Amino acid sequence: MGKPTGFMEFQRQEEEYLPVAKRLKNYKEFVIHLTDEQAKTQGARCMDCGIPFCNNGCPVNNIIPDWNDLVYRGNWRQALDVLHSTNNFPEFTGRICPAPCEAACTVNINGDAVGIKSIEHFIIDKAGENGWVVPQPAAKKTGKKVAVVGSGPAGLAAAQQLARAGHAVTVFEKNSRVGGLLRYGIPDFKLDKRLIDWRVAQLEAEGVKFQTNTFVGKEAPGAGVANDAKKTVSPDELMKKFDAVVLAGGSEHPRDLPAPGRELKGVHYALEFLIPQNKEVAGDGKNPINAKGKHVVVIGGGDTGSDCVGTSNRHGAASITQIEVMPRPPEQENKSLVWPNWPIKLRTSSSHDEGCNRDWAIATKEFVGEKGVLKAIKAVRVEWKDGKMHEIAGSEFELKADLVFLAMGFTNPLQQVLDAFGVEKDARGNVKADTNHYRTSVDKVFAAGDMRRGQSLVVWAIREGRQCARAVDEFLMGSSVLPR
Ligand SMILES: Cc1cc2nc3c(=O)[nH]c(=O)nc-3n(C[C@H](O)[C@H](O)[C@H](O)COP(=O)(O)OP(=O)(O)OC[C@H]3O[C@@H](n4cnc5c(N)ncnc54)[C@H](O)[C@@H]3O)c2cc1C
Ligand code: SF4
Repeated sequence: MGKPTGFMEFQRQEEEYLPVAKRLKNYKEFVIHLTDEQAKTQGARCMDCGIPFCNNGCPVNNIIPDWNDLVYRGNWRQALDVLHSTNNFPEFTGRICPAPCEAACTVNINGDAVGIKSIEHFIIDKAGENGWVVPQPAAKKTGKKVAVVGSGPAGLAAAQQLARAGHAVTVFEKNSRVGGLLRYGIPDFKLDKRLIDWRVAQLEAEGVKFQTNTFVGKEAPGAGVANDAKKTVSPDELMKKFDAVVLAGGSEHPRDLPAPGRELKGVHYALEFLIPQNKEVAGDGKNPINAKGKHVVVIGGGDTGSDCVGTSNRHGAASITQIEVMPRPPEQENKSLVWPNWPIKLRTSSSHDEGCNRDWAIATKEFVGEKGVLKAIKAVRVEWKDGKMHEIAGSEFELKADLVFLAMGFTNPLQQVLDAFGVEKDARGNVKADTNHYRTSVDKVFAAGDMRRGQSLVVWAIREGRQCARAVDEFLMGSSVLPR
């Protein structure tokens, strides 16, 4: 695999970014994928370690050493086939996956991991440039009908696999465009939405039907949850018309911060800012929240918070501060303790690099306003002992804020949707279903992605969508040749 001595000869090369000043002018992607020669050299760094831990570290179990070798040899076309054999959508993961595979790479034990994600990005972009991604419609139709609720990565992966197995698949989506959080959560500068359209066109050519602006359930979602539905379909109707139903509606209920002043104008859930921004970029109307010249405080240190930072910078915010209740993680993990697992360490995103003050171990006590409008937050420093948070006496302070974005994660899926189907839930309010069969407590209803596992990652959603499709196929046909 690769060049046997490559990992000793060549350094890891990161993908290059456009300069900050240039990329802040618009919402376009700014990561420049590797050149042919760079990709070959990076593929050559794969050391044929015998037990490819990367393959296990990757939730879709991408066969990484094989495509590294093919890229090293310049056999891009075959590399694409190997990549597609485990991952329906490498154009998404090659851009926005946090790459747990690289944490698990053997070269990472005492050096810099193989740049797996950048090679994945390279392969799929090469495929796009050469027109190698073509529809693969099923040779034989089964006559079975499957409804998929939700068009995020889990729903799309399930739909594609099921259509390729010959089933007639209809995807129901309450929003006006397909893609779930790929479309409306993740900003365009991280993921160009034309890539979703490109993949959706392939699914349509494979026979998948999309019914957008259609909410499946009874009671519509409340504040903080996107809903462009013009039509409601009841679960009973779906159950009558379809032979199986896949629930892939994500985990959309945002975590609130019910401190005094929460009702002030200027305090928003992160997605109340990010969704309209994605819509604005798509030409679907202006974002009602404008961060230009404002002091922005982002509460929550994860991906969602980082996306609020990147978007606020593009608006031209006066200042951006991101605070997190947990302590500052270490700069470097102790590899001998954690490898090949995903380490907790300080992660600095491209959005942080564009300008942001970051602070840790801070709890927000109050939103302060004048005449109903947010002016500041009151906060206190905290320390963590025995897993418990303690406020540090005398450390209270105020932070100027015209806008606050609450980016503290998502607690669970929309409960009214699960209740409308009558499916059993787990202790966290997700759909209860195991990963062998993905079956819920209700006959012929399956669940996958964030709706089943809780808030997670795109790559996990793709894995669950694929595996769930196989489970549905087995249920409908008695056996399945779809891969897990
Ligand atoms: C701002 C943000 C940034 C993120 N960045 C990253 C990242 O960089 N990398 C990464 O790996 N992960 C990231 N994530 C997480 C990732 O986006 C999710 O884990 C993933 O999209 C989950 O996929 P899913 O298909 O399960 O659900 P979703 O993507 O949430 O899709 C669910 C879809 O179902 C629809 N739906 C729900 N209920 C109904 C209903 N009753 N009727 C009809 N339609 C319904 C919703 O409208 C939605 O379109 C991010 C999340 C957020 C919020
Ligand atoms: S999908 Fe993510 S974990 Fe898997 S190979 Fe790609 S970057 Fe790595």
